[in-house]
Amino acid sequence: MHCPLCGQLMRRNGFRKKPVTIKILSIGGKTTVLKIKKQQYLCPPSTDCPTRVTRVAQIQGVKFACRIANSVKYHIVQELSDNESMRTIASHHNVSVNTVERQLEGLDDTFKPNRNWLPATIAFDDFKSGKFAQSNMSMILMNPQNHRTIDIIQSRNSRFMRGYFLSHYSKKARWSVKIVVVDLFEPYRNLIHDLFPKAIIVADHFHVVVQAYRALQSARLKVMKEYGPNTHEYRALKHYWKLLMAKKSQLDYLHYYSRRNFRYAWLSNQEVVNRLLSFSPDLRAAYEYYQDLITAIDQRSQALLNQLIKRRDLPITLRRVKRTLRKHRQEIIASFYTRLTNGPIEGANNKIKVIKRTVYGYRNFFISGLEFSFH
Ligand SMILES: [Zn+2]
Repeated sequence: MHCPLCGQLMRRNGFRKKPVTIKILSIGGKTTVLKIKKQQYLCPPSTDCPTRVTRVAQIQGVKFACRIANSVKYHIVQELSDNESMRTIASHHNVSVNTVERQLEGLDDTFKPNRNWLPATIAFDDFKSGKFAQSNMSMILMNPQNHRTIDIIQSRNSRFMRGYFLSHYSKKARWSVKIVVVDLFEPYRNLIHDLFPKAIIVADHFHVVVQAYRALQSARLKVMKEYGPNTHEYRALKHYWKLLMAKKSQLDYLHYYSRRNFRYAWLSNQEVVNRLLSFSPDLRAAYEYYQDLITAIDQRSQALLNQLIKRRDLPITLRRVKRTLRKHRQEIIASFYTRLTNGPIEGANNKIKVIKRTVYGYRNFFISGLEFSFH
């Protein structure tokens, strides 16, 4: 070691009395530590260097005053991207859970969104997060084009979201957003117009179809109730409900099977559906509406969508669906052109769910829990 004052080679001056213990990566599955005796150095006073200078050797690959080798920390960071709890990672490396948490906190800067930038296209959707938000629901903000998560927003509450966007992104960033993909939740519309004045809204396909899906399900249940349990119609509608929800164009009409619910008649799936629909005109109407909506979206057909919005003499549940379609017509048509959906978010939501199960629920919203809590 060279003297930091005069630059001359220092003299060795014995060892530190107590060896230091450094945790390193385990070897052969066994916890491994290094016991290191530290060399001391001395630069005795001379004409070049009038004061007495002493130093202690540094250990390569270990941060000053830290007892855990850097390589262990890197491994922890790598493992954090796996679907494991912090407790598991801590036990793998024989360190405390706090140490693992600190590594994650050290990555904080890489998670922080850039204040002055947002992609031209953003998408958001809610997911069940836990007790962090009033409604137990948080928001995931994503770039649907490269499928990258931009940020997780603690609450889906409109006021909270407004505060979040205003405090996290500059006006320039917000004004550069051209497209927002979102579900059909009404209160977001005003929010989006205020926050992203240059953006058009694209309604997510999934959420559009869900409306008609629910209407069809409730129509089916209503018919079942009307016939009452222990009737042939009730059992058939209960047993074959999946065939009603399947895409009409994909129904099998080639293979025949003996159907217990229809006195062992040999019927194809398509014929089963035809028989089910003959039970009730309302059910048939709901079925046709649902199927036409799927087709309209599949084929990106504006004409068919318009026709659905104009359709008359619908049962009450479908009238509600029709109203939603009419209200969001422009947004649905925009989705035909942009070909954007919230699909990537569904993937992220699944991942969130899986991790949540592995770790038995998230303990806090932020890594440190220090930033602020929702009230
Ligand atoms: Zn010196």
